[in-house]
Amino acid sequence: MGSYIPYPNPTSARIVIVEDEPQLAELESDYLRHAGFQTHMLADGLQVLPWLAGNHADLILLDLMLPGLDGLALCQAIRRSSAVPIIMVSARVEEADRLLGLELGADDYLCKPFSPREMVARVKTVLRRLGPAAAEPTTVAGFSLDADAMKVSAGPLEIQLTAVEFQLLQVMYRQPGRIFSRSHLMDSIYQDQRIVSDRTIDSHIKKLRKKLTELSPGQELIQSVYGAGYRFEAAIKP
Ligand code: CA
Repeated sequence: MGSYIPYPNPTSARIVIVEDEPQLAELESDYLRHAGFQTHMLADGLQVLPWLAGNHADLILLDLMLPGLDGLALCQAIRRSSAVPIIMVSARVEEADRLLGLELGADDYLCKPFSPREMVARVKTVLRRLGPAAAEPTTVAGFSLDADAMKVSAGPLEIQLTAVEFQLLQVMYRQPGRIFSRSHLMDSIYQDQRIVSDRTIDSHIKKLRKKLTELSPGQELIQSVYGAGYRFEAAIKP
């Protein structure tokens, strides 16, 4: 218990391609299928949320500029109810766009033009990192994490986390008792470390701890280890 088990069969994952340029969508789909993934293509931003409401996705390749509803608005809307891994795809390369995409909950960012091989490699990396944990709720020490809904529960109590809070908790929760440095945590949840500082991590952790006390009053589930970082303490009273 506790050690991270890599995604056993990444090739069975279903990748949803949200892209309004048909040729690019076909190209992405061809390469992903060749790599063994299942794919589903959506060309209009307005199709995405209804489709996700009735279907399972393991990862979403999300174009920024779309008819109907743009990628940033979609990313934000998806994150209200799901931690499904999202890679934003965009021709816009400004730092501000990338920052906004990641702040809104994207897990990685791919700039057009990209090589299809790089795209496949990024998909695999993100799935390995966040994986599919994604799909299955897990339980450690009386606490259940549901990544699809970004919720944590203990008995009848339940709290809702943001995407960043959920990812931080998930990283520590998978290895109870282990101390994680801030840079390790940053590395685990952000692909591009330049955009976050130690203080950003501290501020997310602070909010996360506050929410967790609702599940377990009087106990510090996430402990601060002076000069070292944080750890999830699994010795929970039933
Ligand atoms: Ca587009």
